[in-house]
Formats: sequence, C-alpha cells, structure tokens
Amino acid sequence: MPITIEHGRVIDPAEQVDRVTSLRIADGRIVGLDLPPEPGDEVIDASGRIVCPGLIDMHVHLREPGREEDETIATGTAAALAGGFTSIACIPNTEPPIDTQGTVEFVRGQAARAGNCNVFVVACVSKNREGTELSEIGQLVEAGAVAFTDDGSPVSDPELMRRAFEYCQMFDKPVLNHSEIRELTEHGVMHEGLTSLELGLTGMPSAAEDVMASRDIALAEATGGRFHLMHVSTAGSVDAVRRAKRRGVRVSTEVCPHHFTLTDESLRTFDSNYKMNPPLRGREDVLACIDGLRDGTIDCIVTDHAPHAKEKKMQELDRAPFGIIGLETAVGLVVTQLIQAGALDWPAAIEKMTINPARVLGIDRGTLRPGAVADVTIIDPECRWTVDPHEFRSKSSNSPFIGWELTGRAETVIVAGEVKFRR
Ligand SMILES: [Zn+2]
Ligand SMILES: [Zn+2]
Repeated sequence: MPITIEHGRVIDPAEQVDRVTSLRIADGRIVGLDLPPEPGDEVIDASGRIVCPGLIDMHVHLREPGREEDETIATGTAAALAGGFTSIACIPNTEPPIDTQGTVEFVRGQAARAGNCNVFVVACVSKNREGTELSEIGQLVEAGAVAFTDDGSPVSDPELMRRAFEYCQMFDKPVLNHSEIRELTEHGVMHEGLTSLELGLTGMPSAAEDVMASRDIALAEATGGRFHLMHVSTAGSVDAVRRAKRRGVRVSTEVCPHHFTLTDESLRTFDSNYKMNPPLRGREDVLACIDGLRDGTIDCIVTDHAPHAKEKKMQELDRAPFGIIGLETAVGLVVTQLIQAGALDWPAAIEKMTINPARVLGIDRGTLRPGAVADVTIIDPECRWTVDPHEFRSKSSNSPFIGWELTGRAETVIVAGEVKFRR
C-alpha cells in the first residue's frame, strides 16, 4: 500500500533537504516530497518527528553462522530495525568466516528469509581470516560482497594489506581495517593510562592504534586504494585521518557511540560490559572523536554491535570477551550525547548514519531522492526512555548503557516501502 508521511521534519543530507513537509512512497520507491496523500494511501502523521533516509550501520557482528548462542541473522536484524536501521553491513568473523561465495550466499539467504532489514555482506580480506593469503576478492565481489575486512583481527602483514588495497581497488571496494599492532596489546584488557596503572590491569596503548592507522594510510596513499579505519578511538588516529584527507588520500573512518560517550574511568567498576576493543580511552580521546565528528574527519557513526551470551561476558575482566551490543541504543546516544550536547546538528548526525556509510560501501541507499528505494526511518527526537534489557530484540544484552535514560528513539521503520517496525 502506498504511504504518505505528513507533517514531519524531512531531513535528507544527500539532497540538502531539511524542512517540514510530506513524503510519499509507492511501489517500494520514493515518489517525492511535498505531495498530498492520494486516495488509498496509508497516512502516517509525523508531527514533531524527524523523517530521514533509513539509517545504515556499516559495522555489525551478526554471529551467524557459528555462534548462534550470541545472535542470529534473524535476531540481529530485528534489533537493527528496533534501533532504526534499515540497512546493516555484517562483519565476516563468523565460524566459518565469510571468505567464500557460498558463505556470502548463505548470509544473504538467511537475511532474506528473516525479512527484516537489508544486510550487506563484508567479506574477509584473507582466507580463513588467517592473515596470510588473500581471499578470492573477485569471486566474493561477484557473490555480493561490498567491502573487505578481517575485523576481530587486524590485517597485520603490511604486504598482505598492500595487495588487498591493490586488488580491492580493481573492484572499487574499500578495505576496512581493525588497525591495531597486536604486539603492543597482548593480554591487554583496557586502555593503557593512569587508570589501568591504578587498577593494576594490563593496558592497550593508544600507539597500537595510531601506528597501524598511519601504516594503513601510507599504504592506501601508495597504492591509491580506499582505506576505511574502523572504530577510531584515539586522538592520534583521528588526527592522522584528518591530515591524510587534506592530502587527498582515499581514507574514511567511523566512530562508535561508546567511544564518544565513555572513558577508561568506567573500568573502575570492573564490569566486563566496559571491555571492548579498541578500549574505552581517556577524556582527551573522547573529545578528539567529538571534534572529528564535528569537522567531518569522522564520516560515519557505527555500533560495532558485538553480542556475547551472558555466560561468556559474566566472567572475570581478563577472561571476558571484548565487545558490546549497540544497535538498539545508538540513536538515543547520538541524540543525547551529540545533538543535545550541541556537538552535531540533526542533518550532520543523519548524514553520518545514512549517505556517508552508503558512499563508503558504494551501496544505492541513504537518500530520499525520488526513485530511490523507500527505506525510511521516523525518529521521535523528544522521546525520553530508559534502556531496559527486557526490550532488546538482540539475543544478547551485553550493554553498559542498561538503566541509562536517553532521549530520541526510532518510532517507525520502513524498508522498501513496507512498514517493518512500529513502536
Ligand atoms: Zn574491531
Ligand atoms: Zn567489529
């Protein structure tokens, strides 16, 4: 059924639209703005709401195949919808990893069966994520892979990274790296600094990220390849990206809500829901991330949604796995920590969750341009709510934000013209 969304503040950064008007959808596509409903349309009153392109999270761990006790493609995509996301890109550190055409097709098939949001597949840089031999990039692109990463692990070997840039460039695909010098972070559980020293916990220094981010920038510059720095967390690597962009290097980056919200001080609780990789950093790093968002150095906001079943995360800090879920709290944290705090305005925030990730991945999404696929998110910007794990659609509830009071939440989520979620 065609839909007309009326009286909302329509924000489409790709088209420089920001005004109160109507948006009409028919046959799964955007018809246009400023149109009255036609007879037979479903009419959605969006007074006081933000109407924007469907949100895109380009960094999600769906866990299936192999770790269905943590998350499945069905539960992860349901969590994405509840968080306002119409598209996600899934990271290939599954078991087996997504390094063959067959696994790419399996994930796409499961996503289609789940029928929630769009799932774009990121495939492995190296075979079996072992970091030694390049995967079959061309075949994986043919199967639908939109980008390449070994996330969960860095691509440590610089020669492999260089060849990844060269190969991926032939298909105009970006290489996404979890940039971390592993030799510098061995046995680390948190950021290395005064707090780790006081707590007597093994630290992971900022230099581990800074050094590899700079290496990857240098290799991208040398090859002409496209580098996307995943989950930026240090002042040093934000600045390295800023300077590289000025030189015209093809580099982009992303930040997670926890890295612009929390610091390493949180580890004083010894709660493993504050354990992630990269770790929560110092105050000056948090401020550098916010500055990077503000001046456009940081292109995208992503969740790095990393579900872990309770029994895994409920271990001592040094044994618990890294990572937290993020799909269902991202919008609330963006609104509360960035928009209400005056760091970003609505169009800038939405740009980093729609057209910018779409451009990095080269996917035909992220805009409300007439003729585009009708993926639309309606956000209640004033809604105050408390993060309640019982409401999570995710199979896991490893979040440090449980009990937080946030402002802003997705209310209605439309995928290809169909209402897939309504609160
Ligand atoms: Zn990572
Ligand atoms: Zn990740």
